[in-house]
Amino acid sequence: MPNVMTKTTIKLFAGLVLCAAMPGAAQVTAIRVGRLLDPESGVVSRNQIILVEGTKFQAIGPNVAIPAGALVIDLSDLTVMPGLVDAHNHLAITYKEVPENDYYYLTYVMESTPLRAIQAVSNGIQMLSAGFTIVRDMGNNGNYADVALRQAIEQGWIPGPTIINSGLIIGGMGGQFWPTPEMAVDKKIVYPEYLDADTPDDIIKAVRKNALFGAKVIKICVDCKPWGYSTDDIRLFVHEAAKIGLKVEGHVQTVDGARRAIEAGIWSIAHDIGLTDEMHKMMAQKGIWRAGTETPVSLAGHTTPERFQRTVAGLKNAYDNKVPLTFSTDADYYVPGKTRGEVAIEFIETWKAAGIPTIDILRAMTVNGYKVSETERTRGPIKPGFMADLIAVRGDPLQSIDALRDVQFVLKDGTVFKRNGIMTPERFFHGGPVNGWNVR
Ligand SMILES: [Zn+2]
Repeated sequence: MPNVMTKTTIKLFAGLVLCAAMPGAAQVTAIRVGRLLDPESGVVSRNQIILVEGTKFQAIGPNVAIPAGALVIDLSDLTVMPGLVDAHNHLAITYKEVPENDYYYLTYVMESTPLRAIQAVSNGIQMLSAGFTIVRDMGNNGNYADVALRQAIEQGWIPGPTIINSGLIIGGMGGQFWPTPEMAVDKKIVYPEYLDADTPDDIIKAVRKNALFGAKVIKICVDCKPWGYSTDDIRLFVHEAAKIGLKVEGHVQTVDGARRAIEAGIWSIAHDIGLTDEMHKMMAQKGIWRAGTETPVSLAGHTTPERFQRTVAGLKNAYDNKVPLTFSTDADYYVPGKTRGEVAIEFIETWKAAGIPTIDILRAMTVNGYKVSETERTRGPIKPGFMADLIAVRGDPLQSIDALRDVQFVLKDGTVFKRNGIMTPERFFHGGPVNGWNVR
């Protein structure tokens, strides 16, 4: 297009950009709430009014005046609460029984990053419909499909949870794969699923590469290979990531790996395999987050009854030791008949089996999720000035955590995504980046 813009058209254009940059800025929404559940305090307040202006909560209370012209939403029959957090998922991978026998090395070989990015959009929508307003997406997303997902949501192309994404998982040679020499060396087939870092220089470069390409957290393989990372290696990751304001999560599958990660002061540990009573005591003392990814036995084929018993005992031990707990699923596979969100919510079964009090399950799914995601001062709690995300369910989650299986209403960034149990996401779709293109 030739450059024929006059001052007037530029002004007009700037005005349009400004309007478009604040979708619904003038929109005030008043939500009548029957029961408002605060998981932090465990208090349920009756007959509240929540006022939302644009994308943020403006006021909450029993006597809040509803301004003329406000859109009024009646949730008098429902329990309203803050949105849920899955602290460990991978939205741009979906391994399956058919054709790859749940062997995700084959998923990686057979599915392109563009296809996986489109799956991520769908999975994100399914997670949001199940009430997950924040997802920490911890890698295995091809060539940065997780970044594209986050940017598309933040720019305003599509609805989805707030994404805290890791970019490529950084591991020693091979990552979590055991490729043949032909595939690894000649075809470089481990990449871009994993980022190699075998030396201190590699570690620094890998962290910077992920940051450059849009990671918001750093994910490392502590002990995916017998050589693993030393405590000093992990310290270097933590130090380099901190320069960019990023935290480090470690995939840990051995007790020795857990010990090294804890000694190095890692932010969070994914998976429970290496987490013994001793490790839990060390984690509690250092305040290290546990993203245990506790697969329920009801997801047949993804754990065994014996493994499930160990998972339950481990979660109970972590709770008894006062380890900071997050709700995390690693639900990156297809369970026929279930959405990705329904697979993720199924993980409450493990928490129930471990005998964790309902209020503390709710805290793991909300308050702790905001903290591990580092959104606790901007997004999560239903408080004035915070981003307007909330969900509503028919039952009382304090009485039965299973009430969370029936999310009837979802508000994300002040816009209704689901109402009366039905997704209504039209207002999230736009012909351009209405929230601005300059999202990194
Ligand atoms: Zn994972």
